[in-house]
This record gives sequence, structure tokens and C-alpha cells, in this order.
Amino acid sequence: MSYRVPSKDYGKQNAELWPELSVEIERVFREENPVLGESVAAFEREFASHLGVQHVVGVGTGTDALVLSLRAVGVLPGDEVITAANTFAATITAIALVGARPVLVDPDPRTLTIDAAGVEQAMGEAIKVVIPVHLYGRLCDMEPLMELCNDRGVAIVEDAAQAHGANGVRQAGAFGKAGCFSFHPSKNLGAFGDGGAIATDDVTIAKTLRELRNLGKRTKYEFAHVSPNTKLDTLQAAVLRVKLRHLDRWNARRREIAGQYTASLNTVLETPVEAAHGQHVFHLYAAHLDRRDELRRYLKESGINAGVHYPTPPHLQPWHTGMGYRPGDFPVAEASAARELSLPVSPELSDEQVAFVCERIHAFFAS
Ligand SMILES: *Cc1c(COP(=O)(O)O)cnc(C)c1O
Repeated sequence: MSYRVPSKDYGKQNAELWPELSVEIERVFREENPVLGESVAAFEREFASHLGVQHVVGVGTGTDALVLSLRAVGVLPGDEVITAANTFAATITAIALVGARPVLVDPDPRTLTIDAAGVEQAMGEAIKVVIPVHLYGRLCDMEPLMELCNDRGVAIVEDAAQAHGANGVRQAGAFGKAGCFSFHPSKNLGAFGDGGAIATDDVTIAKTLRELRNLGKRTKYEFAHVSPNTKLDTLQAAVLRVKLRHLDRWNARRREIAGQYTASLNTVLETPVEAAHGQHVFHLYAAHLDRRDELRRYLKESGINAGVHYPTPPHLQPWHTGMGYRPGDFPVAEASAARELSLPVSPELSDEQVAFVCERIHAFFAS
């Protein structure tokens, strides 16, 4: 089905960028090594500079960015890792893939991110790492969390897969020992396929990550770790270099669209807040309401593709029963899963499309 207001429009974005993309793609095909070509290092430098960190290491996916980061900061099988009960499944998949046990924390009901108070309650002896998730593009309240983790000798690995460019005292992904990004095409900074990266200020972690992404190779014939082969492709890096130039403009447009929704809809929906400690870059515009499924169907009939992120929280997924949690354990995450509706917020949308979404939502509540 083709929507009058799609949730994203890759074709439109790529068509707008084609003059830049086509030149760069042709150049890379003619000049560069397909694996770890110069574009990878160039993108790593440029993204590090955008984030204000020393090192960026490109990898195959955002999930692998998390897996490799957990290993690089020393997480071993049997360790415990705290993260948000309302995160996307991949955060927890990554914890499980390194053999650690996920310990979930219910988010703050207003920001839907975990904070120092919630994390402190869950902090036991076996906790090695806390993974704050800048969910929907909203920067977590990092400073109290960093203070708590510093006191307890616990590392922070950020899941910034939805928050490229979200600014606070620093940018999302630039606070912790490691900050993990996904470049899945749907993200605020997306490749034409899968991709991921880790940001860090720690040269030793960066060096370990470069080994871990490349089968554990330290030198050409020396394998120092048992690790997957998960590098950022040269071609994806070339696409990302072009798109990175537009990230700030796109985020500004997302914030502008979000402002239009909030101004029009805050009387009928629970609209997302922006906290004082940092920006929200609206990877998703997550509103909440009781009649979520009904409104979603109504919008679909009007040609508007509104999404749900996410209908089932991780602790209630089939394979996550091994974590030992039950329905009712995380009331904020569960209520959000039942009531969340993501309105289309991609930067390609026109003001007319946004106004049409608002008009249809008001019509739904008036009917
Ligand atoms: C997208 C996403 C990931 C995983 O990234 P992939 O590149 O799809 O592996 C992890 N965490 C969050 C919060 C995400 O949104």
C-alpha cells in the first residue's frame, strides 16, 4: 500500500541526495577497496568529529556495536547488565549474546528513559555495565547516572541507535565508555543497508573493537579473540559520509514537525516531552492514548502510516521468559507498550502532510 503520509520514504530521500550520492558511489567503485576502504576511516573520523569523541569504529550492525562494546569493556558470561525494560529487543539480544544476564529497569513514566534513581535500586554486586537507551531519540539524564556508575565502578555503554545528534552537555553516544549506533536505513542517520558504529574516547577500547570486528585479528596472521566478522562496508561508509552532512538539518526538521504535532495535539493525546537535560531528536514521535489501536486503524484508512514501538516489551517476548520476569513486573513499560502510537515524523514530510495527520486525529476524537 502506498500511503499519503508514509512513516518513512527512502526513495524520496535518496532522490534528493542523488546528485551527491551518485558522484561518491561511482568514485568509491572505481577507486576504493570494497572491504575497509578509505571511506570507512574517513567516515569514522567525520562521525567522531561530529560527536566530539576521539574514536569511532564502524561495524556491521547496531546490535554488533552493542555486542562488541560489552566485550570490549570486559563483560563476561554470568555478569549482569542493566538496561531499560521498554527498549527495542536488540539491546537485550546483545546482552544475551555475550552470555550476560539482562537486569531490567522500568523507565521514568514521563521521559520513558531509565534514570539514576531506577538504576540504583537494581544495582547488585554482579552488575558490570549499565546500558541507558536514548529511546525514540530522547537523551537520557546522563550526568546523575554517570556519577552513580563512577561511584560503583560500573561502566556505561550507551545505546544511541535512535539518537544520532541528540545534544546535551555532550551528544548521545559520547558520554559512556562506549556509545553504540545503528545505521539501519530507518534511523536518523541511515545507510543503504545495515551498518553500525561505536564511539569512544578510550584508545585501548578502540583498538580492541578494531580487532573484535575483524575476526579477532590483531595482526595479519594473529587471532587474539574469538569474534565475528562484522565490519562497516566501504560502500555504506561512503553513503553515510554524504548523509552525515545532512544529519543536523534533518534533526532540526524532525524537531520542527514534532513541534507542530505537539502544538496541535496536546489536548487530545499525551504528547512527548523534552527534558531540560537534553534534546529529543524524534527518531520516533511517540504519543500515548487509550484508544491506540482504534486510532491507528482510523489513520490507516486515511492513508497515514502510524506505527507502534513496541507492542510487546522484551520481558514478555517468547525467548525472554528465561530472564524470569512476569507480566506486571514493569508497569511503565507495559502501559507504554499498550498505549504508544508513533506518528510519522520523517524529515521528508511536508507541512501539509503533518497538518493532514493533525486534522485526521482531531476528526477521530470528534466522531
Ligand atoms: C535499531 C536499534 C538497535 C539495533 O540496531 P541494528 O542495526 O538493527 O542491529 C539497537 N537498539 C535500538 C534502541 C535500536 O533502535
